[in-house]
Amino acid sequence: MLSGITPGQIPGTPSPLRLAAPRSVPASRLERVRAAGAAFIRGTTQGWNRRELATWLVDQYAPCVTPPFHMETANLPPVMDTPLDEGFINRLILDARDRVLQLLAELVVPWEATPRARLAVACGAVAPERDERGAIAYYPVRLMRMRLAQRVSALFLADYLNRPTEYRWLMLCSECGELAFSAELAHGSWCEASPEEWIALTPAEALYAAAGSSG
Ligand SMILES: [Zn+2]
Repeated sequence: MLSGITPGQIPGTPSPLRLAAPRSVPASRLERVRAAGAAFIRGTTQGWNRRELATWLVDQYAPCVTPPFHMETANLPPVMDTPLDEGFINRLILDARDRVLQLLAELVVPWEATPRARLAVACGAVAPERDERGAIAYYPVRLMRMRLAQRVSALFLADYLNRPTEYRWLMLCSECGELAFSAELAHGSWCEASPEEWIALTPAEALYAAAGSSG
C-alpha cells in the first residue's frame, strides 16, 4: 500500500501520483489488449450482468486475442452446453475479478511476475508475434477451454510482457475501477474520487526495492 508515501519521498523514482491525459480510443492492437483488461476491471467495479459480459467478450476481448498456434482437439463436450442462470454468471464474473486483481498484485512485483508470465507463455495462453518491423510483441491466445478468469488474466500477462516497467506503480480507483499504469491517474469524467481513493496494488516494500535498485 502507498499509505504514508507521498511524491518525492523515494529518491530516484517517478512520483507515484501524476495526472494522465483522459482515456481515448486505443489505436493499436497492443493498446487494445490493455484496454480490454482495464475495461473488465472498470466494468466489474460497477457490477456486470450477462449482457454486459457478452458485449465485452465480443467488442473488446475478441478483437485483440490471437487464435491458438496448434489446432485444438474437440474431444471434450462444449463447456456451455446448458443455459447458465444469472446467479451463476454473477459468481463467475466476481470470481474472475478477484483472481485478476490477485494477479495484478503479483505483476507489480517483478520476481513474482516473471515466473507467472513465463508460465502463461509455456501454457499457450500468451504467445509472441513478430510485427512487420520484426519486433516481438505478446498477445493473449483464445483457447477453447479457458475460464473467464484465464481469459482476462491472459490480457494482463501479455500486456505485462510487452511493458513490464509500467506495472511497477499500478493503482486502482476504488470509485470507478480505473487502473492507473505507472501511477498515471485518470478517471472517467463522472468520477470525482480524490487521490486518497486510489488503491495502490504495488506493495510499499516493492516500491522501496525498486527505488533501491534504480539507485
Ligand atoms: Zn475514479
